[in-house]
Amino acid sequence: MMRKFSFKKIILSAAVAMAVLGTGITASTTMENTASAAESTVTFDRGSNGQVTQYNSSTGATATEDGPTFSKLKDATNINVYIDPGLTSAEKKAIFYATQSWSYAAQRLNFYLTTDPSQAQIKYLTGNSKKGTAGMTTSHILGNYITSSDVHLNLSEPDNYNNMMARTLIHETGHALGLNDNYDMPTTSVMYGVVDTKSINSGITPKEYDVNNIDSLYGF
Ligand SMILES: [Zn+2]
Repeated sequence: MMRKFSFKKIILSAAVAMAVLGTGITASTTMENTASAAESTVTFDRGSNGQVTQYNSSTGATATEDGPTFSKLKDATNINVYIDPGLTSAEKKAIFYATQSWSYAAQRLNFYLTTDPSQAQIKYLTGNSKKGTAGMTTSHILGNYITSSDVHLNLSEPDNYNNMMARTLIHETGHALGLNDNYDMPTTSVMYGVVDTKSINSGITPKEYDVNNIDSLYGF
């Protein structure tokens, strides 16, 4: 647990203060081959009851059992994150907590703040997600990779940092990393599509099976 005090943690803990330092970090590698690659988007957490979990805009297909992952970032060791200034301070705190939790769980994941949304692979944005969803993620896919994901929230208490908020942000960030909703895993998985008391009580962190999915997706 010595890594608790790693440089990575320091960056994330001081994320607000260091936002300016994130400016200029580029991710142009994700933009190549735009002419020939097929573009599609996948939207998660559309359903009013958390049941319809994946919608592919290019095919119109919905699916809930496509396996634990649907696509991936080109470089998950260097993920630029944009946080809309209009989000509440509680929501921002939950975003920091979510990215930090994922980078703890899968140590090679690294998140960096950028103030330029065009450079971000994950964008946490204002504008509510669909009614009935606490959060919603739309991933834009080009060829084999996610170029960027938009996360929208519709939390019942946006000004109140709480377990539900933290769990929602970890879950949506999991989508942005390429993980599917998965109803085959234990309900304690942060990628289980519905939050229950057992999930909350198990700790608001990615679990071993969640981490295994990240590790196998990225070859960590
Ligand atoms: Zn989901």
